[in-house]
Amino acid sequence: MTEEIKENIKDLYIGVGSNLNEPFVQIERAIEALSHLDNFDSMKISNFYESAPMGPQNQNNYINIVAMFKSGESPEVILSSLKDIESSMGRVKSSTRWSERIIDLDIIVYGDLTYESDILTIPHSNAYQRAFVLLPLIDITPDINIPNQGFAKDLINNCLYNDIKKIEKK
Ligand code: AMP
Repeated sequence: MTEEIKENIKDLYIGVGSNLNEPFVQIERAIEALSHLDNFDSMKISNFYESAPMGPQNQNNYINIVAMFKSGESPEVILSSLKDIESSMGRVKSSTRWSERIIDLDIIVYGDLTYESDILTIPHSNAYQRAFVLLPLIDITPDINIPNQGFAKDLINNCLYNDIKKIEKK
């Protein structure tokens, strides 16, 4: 790890979702791939959740988790690593918004960072209205504050997409 990266270590929360080809298997594969990225350390994983799809309803329910890492990597490098994992796992681009997907990896929160570019917004701009993001965040860090959005434990009371259930571990 370079000195610059070490100085900027923050808690990086990545949203992981799938609704195709045995979603649990896909999520485990994505966790494995994330854990091997350079400058991603000390992983924590939330509970698993199942939720109804947003948008088109003629698709399977989604399975979602959040994974947290310690990282000092730059936001654009992280996004590019996530896209590489998505394509290596066979994600194909669809022109339909909210269409089914084998894997979806999003940067949800990166410490106290706020970042805006043509291709990337941190925190994720819709985190505040999605229970499948908020509940896993709370699992890992109960008092997590999403910069510019609020405390996840408050946001969960009024969020839009809340048709969700926790998957009980066997
Ligand atoms: P998705 O359909 O969720 O894979 O996201 C499509 C695009 O959203 C990506 O290719 C990114 O350029 C953009 N994007 C903007 N903000 C984020 C973020 N916080 N995490 C991941 N992708 C993002």
